[in-house]
Amino acid sequence: MLKVENLTKMFGGLAAVHDVSVEFEARKINAIIGPNGAGKSTFFNLISGVHKPTSGRILIDGHDVSRMRCDRVARLGVGRTFQTTHLFEQATVLDNLIVGHRLRTRSGLWDVLINSKRLQQEERECREKARAALDFVGLAHLENRVVLDISQEERKRVAFALALATEPKLVLLDEPAAGVNPEETEGLAELIRKMPEHGLTVCLIEHKMDMIMGLADKIMVLNYGEKIAEGTPAEIKANPAVIEAYLGS
Ligand code: ADP
Ligand code: MG
Repeated sequence: MLKVENLTKMFGGLAAVHDVSVEFEARKINAIIGPNGAGKSTFFNLISGVHKPTSGRILIDGHDVSRMRCDRVARLGVGRTFQTTHLFEQATVLDNLIVGHRLRTRSGLWDVLINSKRLQQEERECREKARAALDFVGLAHLENRVVLDISQEERKRVAFALALATEPKLVLLDEPAAGVNPEETEGLAELIRKMPEHGLTVCLIEHKMDMIMGLADKIMVLNYGEKIAEGTPAEIKANPAVIEAYLGS
């Protein structure tokens, strides 16, 4: 599903991601862990086309997306959440999804302005997809609620719905459970757990180890931009290099 070959991203003299190669299988839950600054979010930004790699390749279902713009990558089937979700506070949950969908899959405002006829048709489809995504995350009853009035955990679910509304094959979740309590974390974990049954390949960055260990089929560990380990949760827990990286940081 996702194949990354010798991926490197330099920011000036800093290798945020350095020579990382990894493969993630379809319909599995894959996790990326590592200390702060390890390059996890940069890895997501590379896969989703937000940043261009300095070197290396990214293949999604055999398509080379290494040099693609993020709207094209989104249309190819990659959805994502961001570490911080910016929602339009005064707008309804459903409108946030519709606007979010457009921002993710269109190249720019100009496109939206010049294609008004096609837009109406797309608007309808988009609304349906947004509703399906809201249903999946358990927020169908909140579609007309203004974002200002929903809880932190519901916001996280809106972020999931935003990632799912473009009907991705691969969904990248950047710290989806940050800032929610343990009970709500379990609810979000349940939601992630059912994603593969719906054909989704998940890639998850998370600091909550209990959550990761109970969810992931495969874990990749990054440290200073480099892959220092990969394996099942049991293998990762027992890996001396991982223990060292966490204790040493
Ligand atoms: P993580 O998500 O694992 O905490 P990041 O991928 O956000 O780590 O960051 C990895 C390193 O790259 C950090 O040292 C960070 O400061 C740097 N970095 C990330 N994004 C940029 C950027 N746009 N410009 C310059 N440096 C960046
Ligand atoms: Mg990060």
